[in-house]
Amino acid sequence: MAFAVTSSSSAAISGSSFSRSSSSADLKVPQIGSFRLADRYATVNLSQKRCAVKPVNAEPKRNDSLLPQAASISAPEVSEKVEVEDFEQLAKELDNASPLEIMDKALEKFGNDIAIAFSGAEDVALIEYAKLTGRPFRVFSLDTGRLNPETYRFFDEVEKHYGIRIEYMFPDAVEVQALVRSKGLFSFYEDGHQECCRVRKVRPLRRALKGLRAWITGQRKDQSPGTRSEVPVVQVDPVFEGLEGGVGSLVKWNPVANVDGTDIWNFLRAMNVPVNSLHSQGFVSIGCEPCTRPVLPGQHEREGRWWWEDAKAKECGLHKGNLKQNSSAQLNGNGNVTAAHTDIFDSQSLVTLSRAGIENLARLESRKEPWIVVLYAPWCPYCQAMEESYVALAEKLAGSGVKVAKFRADGEQKEYALKELQLGSFPTVLFFPKHSAKPIKYGSEKRDVDSLLAFVNALR
Ligand code: SF4
Repeated sequence: MAFAVTSSSSAAISGSSFSRSSSSADLKVPQIGSFRLADRYATVNLSQKRCAVKPVNAEPKRNDSLLPQAASISAPEVSEKVEVEDFEQLAKELDNASPLEIMDKALEKFGNDIAIAFSGAEDVALIEYAKLTGRPFRVFSLDTGRLNPETYRFFDEVEKHYGIRIEYMFPDAVEVQALVRSKGLFSFYEDGHQECCRVRKVRPLRRALKGLRAWITGQRKDQSPGTRSEVPVVQVDPVFEGLEGGVGSLVKWNPVANVDGTDIWNFLRAMNVPVNSLHSQGFVSIGCEPCTRPVLPGQHEREGRWWWEDAKAKECGLHKGNLKQNSSAQLNGNGNVTAAHTDIFDSQSLVTLSRAGIENLARLESRKEPWIVVLYAPWCPYCQAMEESYVALAEKLAGSGVKVAKFRADGEQKEYALKELQLGSFPTVLFFPKHSAKPIKYGSEKRDVDSLLAFVNALR
């Protein structure tokens, strides 16, 4: 899969963004959204072309106006030369490269638009590799609010050891509040970890990635035979969107994909890298406190995560692209795959259309108000990726005279949706104008709230 990157940048790195200061006083200054490195690690080549510094949780600029914005959906002027990189080819070329070489390539290519996702476990190796490249680097982590005290202490130790500030991402307080108030603190033991992970991990991660063009993970093939056995060293992210928005706008680097756990530990010991004290208590894979437990010698590390659930599906949503769907089941719509997934686009501002409801809507020659409808399947990663922006769209349009709705179009509804609703792939977004029977299909892969809003405003 090809991925377009700009080959030049209008903004070079400013000296202040890449501070070389390493005094302890400097490290006390809050720097969320920026990073700094100690002198000994920062080898900054100011002649290199880089993009402007953006916080890891940068949101694209939003336009709150509901007035028609036809101009905003016209093709943007192309002022920079665009290079197209074939990351499948690059993954093949780098398949035998060392983690250090892969890390170096990743940091060289993406500069300040890439960050290491650090979980607080042995993926500290990524930070060590980044340090060894001599290039500046950024690190972010998801603070779910449910981590072990040992992990928090380890974060602090890592910050001090490397002279960095970790850019923490936190869950949305209102969402956590709603989940805990309605279902309690341990709902994941009863109805699965997906919902809690979505609120505490996946959505904060999505926000973080929207400020980046690439991210670096510690995924390894040997970590999960069911889900990670084919992880490439670099790939266009199959699930999440980057700064530019749309499918394919983010690159995911997995520098230790081909390294096994023993070699990671040999490396950590050889380099005298600090490690999470939970490892000495038998923890291998480390996540949230209620969902992680030590494993016995000979047990696979993933057996210590969500042990009450199916062993083959142990992904929290951060690497959902690793989960293989039964594609024939999706295509045939036999419903087997769909049953296991929690519904998405859950908002009071959204109308849930039944089959009869969407048939009525499609039949009308003129409607009281225009509708925008997403045809979706809850298991589809691209639908999950646009959930936040579509819900935000519904909230922005509430009371505006445009109805926002969803229609679950997999399973037995799929044939109808293919024949009558222009369903090509999930998600398909349709606009039903006021005075015309025929719905208009949204043709772009940019599914951020501004792009969807521009589509609505151009047609309403
Ligand atoms: Fe919630 Fe457990 Fe997922 Fe952490 S790992 S976000 S506590 S379900």
